[in-house]
Amino acid sequence: MSAAIDVIGLRKSYGEKLVLDGIDLNVAEGTIFSLLGPNGAGKTTVVQILSTLITADAGEIRVAGHDLHKNPEAVRAAIGVTGQFSAVDGLMTGRENLILMADLYHLGKTEARRRADELLEQFDLVEAGKKLAMTYSGGMKRRLDLAMTLVGSPRIIFLDEPTTGLDPRSRHSMWTMIRDLVAGGVTVLLTTQYLDEADELADRIAVLDHGRLVAQGTPEELKRLAPGGHIRLRFTSPDAFSLAAQVLPTAAPNHESLVLQVPNDGSVHSLRDLLARIDDASLEVDELTVHTPDLDDVFFAVTGQPTQSTESTQPVEHEKVTTK
Ligand code: ADP
Repeated sequence: MSAAIDVIGLRKSYGEKLVLDGIDLNVAEGTIFSLLGPNGAGKTTVVQILSTLITADAGEIRVAGHDLHKNPEAVRAAIGVTGQFSAVDGLMTGRENLILMADLYHLGKTEARRRADELLEQFDLVEAGKKLAMTYSGGMKRRLDLAMTLVGSPRIIFLDEPTTGLDPRSRHSMWTMIRDLVAGGVTVLLTTQYLDEADELADRIAVLDHGRLVAQGTPEELKRLAPGGHIRLRFTSPDAFSLAAQVLPTAAPNHESLVLQVPNDGSVHSLRDLLARIDDASLEVDELTVHTPDLDDVFFAVTGQPTQSTESTQPVEHEKVTTK
């Protein structure tokens, strides 16, 4: 797969303050890549540099196959950017906003209208499109903003914290629309401070902390970095439980609930191993559940700090390991 974005050694300082300290990124075409990190980590700065809004101090950067330093115009023609501060004009209707954007792209009158109506349909804004944008909810404004980004049919889209401040329903509808875009062949680089959002959407995640990438991988790979994954085996017969505790000496037993917690990295290989041992010993297991650590655990494991909690985020229910 060819790279939509390829970055080596990206550095940026503001005065004395080092904001990006040598970042390498590779985003494959047609995928969702998430830059995850707390406030102030440097996420917006990366997006601003990759979208040619500000210049880097150092680094080799290619976006959509173009050298960003030598050919920023070509990069601009291939990308769309949706920032935290919406480009939506509240004193115009949604449809007028889209048509204005289409005019900026010189689409021509008929084509501008056709494209605006197509995007209103795609983003579930057909009725809203007739109303002034200042009457829109946060979620509708974000959808219109994203629709405006798409007027020029960009191949690569930068979404800077696309769901910050949205209620859970609007977040989910935004997620669906982002997935649909990628299904249509677009590449998305999204920044987020929400671990569940990166987990939900991203093919790959890079964790940014104080301007440095502290981890990179698929959500599953990252979760394996965090300790705490285990398989929980529940028994109803005390005899089966005791036998299992002997067969699986690394497991943490809970004698009251007849539960064994077997440390496990969540990989298919290790699960298969465990099942083979259960079969070989003819153990009667009543319930088996796999517990993988979530991205909160990962962030803590790679940075030594917890992330800030977010009210609009529904935490994913995960049972934590209790070591006896
Ligand atoms: P994030 O998007 O992860 O919250 P930013 O990229 O916005 O982080 O900011 C990273 C760091 O760079 C912060 O410490 C911020 O204060 C600093 N910063 C960003 N823009 C400027 C600027 N124009 N001048 C000085 N410092 C800045």
